Amino acid sequence: MKNYHTHTKRCYHAIDNEEEYVKAAIQSGYTELGFSDHTPWHYETSYHSTMRMEEDKLVGYVQTLLNLREKYQDQISIKIGLECEYFPKYMNWLKQILKDYPIDYIILGNHFDETDETGIYFGRPLNKQQLTKYVESCIAGIKTGLYSYVAHPDLAFYDTDDPFYTQEMTRLCQAAKEYQMPLEFNLLGYATHRQYPNETFFNIAKKVGNKVIIGTDAHESSALLDMNTYQLGKQWLERLGLELTEDIKFLI
Ligand SMILES: [Zn+2]
Ligand SMILES: [Zn+2]
Repeated sequence: MKNYHTHTKRCYHAIDNEEEYVKAAIQSGYTELGFSDHTPWHYETSYHSTMRMEEDKLVGYVQTLLNLREKYQDQISIKIGLECEYFPKYMNWLKQILKDYPIDYIILGNHFDETDETGIYFGRPLNKQQLTKYVESCIAGIKTGLYSYVAHPDLAFYDTDDPFYTQEMTRLCQAAKEYQMPLEFNLLGYATHRQYPNETFFNIAKKVGNKVIIGTDAHESSALLDMNTYQLGKQWLERLGLELTEDIKFLI
C-alpha cells in the first residue's frame, strides 16, 4: 500500500511533524509514503499565503525527509514531493526548485486560478467561465509533464447535473489519459463529505478510461491509521468499476 498525498504542520493548516506521519504509515502497513506538503511560491508581490510552507522552510522539509528516509529505511520507503498548483508565471521558479532539491515528484493540486495573489479559489461555486478556466489550467499543468498525478481533480465546485460539467470534465480526463497521469480519489474529501470526490466526475473518468489513485491527503498523522475510510473509498471506486493504480512516475 502506498500514499503520495501527505501534509505536515509546515503548511499551517495541518498538524503533526514528518516523523509522526512516518510512524503512522508503518503502523498501518504502508510500504511507501510520499510527502506532498503545499509548495511555497516565489511571489513577485508582498503577498503572503497562510496555507503553504514558507519558501525558506523548504530546505528543512527536504532535509528532514532525507534523514527520516535513512532512519526508517528498513521499514518504509519515503518519497519527497510537493503539492503544487499550476501558476504560469512562476513555473520557471518551480522548475529550478526541482533541479536544486532532491524532490522525487510533485502532484497537481489546482486550488487557485493563475496565482493565489489574485486568482479565485476553484473549490467555491463556479460559473461556466470559471469552470472552463479550472479545466484549462489543469490541462496546461498536465501538459508540462512535471506532475505525477492530478490531486482532487473534481475540486471544481459546479452543478454536476449540468451537461456543461460533463463536457468540460471530459476534456480534463482525456488530457490526463493522454499523458498517462492518474486521477486522485481524495480520501480527505471523502471522509469529510466535501463536494469531491463526486460520482459524476468518476463516471466520466471511467468512460474516458482513466486510472485512479487513492490519495489520503493526510493533514494529521491519524489519517494514515484510518483504514476503515480507506477501504470504504476503495469499495466505492470498485463499485463504479474504476481501474486503480498505485504507481506514479518520479522525476528522479
Ligand atoms: Zn489540495
Ligand atoms: Zn493536499
